[in-house]
Amino acid sequence: MLDNYGRRINYLRVSVTNLCNLRCSYCMPTGGVKKKEHRDILRLEDIENIVKAAVRLGIDKVRITGGEPLVRKGIVQLIENLARIDGLKDLSLTTNGILLKKYARDLKKAGLNRVNISIDSLDRMKYRKITRCGNLDDVLEGIKIAKDAGLTPIKLNTVLVGGFNDDEIEDFVNLTLEDDIEVRFIELMPLGETRSWPESSFVSNETVLEKVPILIPLPFKGHGTVARMYTLPNGKGKVGLISPLSSHFCNYCNRIRVTPDGKLKSCLHSNQEIDLLNAHPDELYKLIFEGIKSKPTKHNIGIKDTTLVYRNMNEIGG
Ligand code: SAM
Ligand code: SF4
Repeated sequence: MLDNYGRRINYLRVSVTNLCNLRCSYCMPTGGVKKKEHRDILRLEDIENIVKAAVRLGIDKVRITGGEPLVRKGIVQLIENLARIDGLKDLSLTTNGILLKKYARDLKKAGLNRVNISIDSLDRMKYRKITRCGNLDDVLEGIKIAKDAGLTPIKLNTVLVGGFNDDEIEDFVNLTLEDDIEVRFIELMPLGETRSWPESSFVSNETVLEKVPILIPLPFKGHGTVARMYTLPNGKGKVGLISPLSSHFCNYCNRIRVTPDGKLKSCLHSNQEIDLLNAHPDELYKLIFEGIKSKPTKHNIGIKDTTLVYRNMNEIGG
């Protein structure tokens, strides 16, 4: 359906848990987050009902995220149930990749189309440092297994953190030379944990173009496009720049989000939420309709902005 500004909203991201097996410093407090009571999070059947109602309203793309979606019990069954919903054309998942070696094949069999895998450093020590506990080799193996399982096209998400991984930009870009993958650089956003981080941590995606000026721009696809796309000369893969701070893509935004505690967010950068937890299945259509109609025209975050979102990404679903 169209929102009040004529944007076609066809993409829903559902965060199925706020828990995670990593502790990325920009996303989670050091000690992790408290496990919520069962009654305070969406049950798997609630998620299914929400997706069904959203599909009736014109949603045809769903991404499952978190927290880390692969730590949610019953995730494969959820994917299987969602994949059966008539009218859903694209079902994907964002993961830190640690558990892909265990789940990739079952997820593919259950009907998952593709995965985005987050990886912020190609250096073992630095990877451990930013995730506070992660093992880079697990992710690299996960990427390979996901590819072999056919969860393609594989997209890698790299959040640029000034002074931490901006020296690895060329290494990430070079992954696209021989491999048919998409490496997406995401500007660090001032949400939750990062609200108090120094300005120097927030690096504009223009840095990627300064460091790798040979990147060739690809045609802009318009509706629903949040990434500006590039490729290396003779590169097999692509490089995407997702720049929520330095260039807003609100005019092309086609998405809404549901948090693990059942709050519908029509904009990532707004604190406005509609409660879907405990809503009767018959009410969901109306509530989601209202959410889409109340989607703000644009977000106004910027590094120095004071209108800040209090939830961390693990509680919203990135
Ligand atoms: N655990 C999964 C993962 O890491 O891919 C899925 C959830 S995670 C919240 C989704 C994405 O949000 C990741 O790519 C992560 O790097 C990104 N993210 C988290 N906090 C962020 C922030 N403050 N600014 C920009 N991206 C952020
Ligand atoms: Fe976990 Fe993903 Fe947040 Fe890292 S970014 S702490 S992997 S939810």
